[in-house]
Amino acid sequence: MRLIEALYQLQLVDSRLDAIRRELETLDSSEEEQQELEQQMEQLSKDIARDKQTVRQLRQELLDQELELDNMEAKMRQMEDLLASGSIRSGREVEQVQKELEELRRRKDMLENKMLELMIRLEESERLLKERETQLNQNRQRLAEIRQQTAILREKLAEEQAALLMEREQLRQMLPPEVLTRYERLKARLGGVAVAKIEGNLCGMCRVTITAEIIRALRDPDGLPTCENCGRFLYGEV
Ligand SMILES: [Zn+2]
Repeated sequence: MRLIEALYQLQLVDSRLDAIRRELETLDSSEEEQQELEQQMEQLSKDIARDKQTVRQLRQELLDQELELDNMEAKMRQMEDLLASGSIRSGREVEQVQKELEELRRRKDMLENKMLELMIRLEESERLLKERETQLNQNRQRLAEIRQQTAILREKLAEEQAALLMEREQLRQMLPPEVLTRYERLKARLGGVAVAKIEGNLCGMCRVTITAEIIRALRDPDGLPTCENCGRFLYGEV
């Protein structure tokens, strides 16, 4: 293998390793999303427990009031029957029963209004409970999905990384130390890319036209041509 070819292969391996590192970092930030989801779920579970408690209480209250209403209505029917039967002789007594009946009707109206309010509150609480339960389920599914995807991806990347690191070692052994030093220095200075591929007759990175001297150097097994403009090593097939 020509030196420049080994160097170019090394560049490809290093660029891919950089990309893998970035992907792994993205996975780390998806762990933040997981934590956020977990926190949301914890809060939702608490809210749901409280909602259930509220719904239970409201149902019980409503049941109590229904019972009270039944009692009231029974009592009113008794009074109405009593009045209709004509068994009360005294006008004052009739008046008294009518007054009581009037009072009961008033209380019944109030109770019915209270029950209506209670039913609205109950409906609202049940709706909220259902909403939160749906949200909790969605979060649970999303979290499982993320966890599975992340685990698969992480494993795949780790495998590729291990293989690349081995390849990297082999390539570095093919290159003289001073070339490696130049390569590393250039890479650090030029955004991770020390070797550019020739495209047509241009440097693939800075697009400057290459010279005939570079073409000659490319044919030399030990030649290491560099771009006159950006300073990168230049690789091309010969
Ligand atoms: Zn260049």
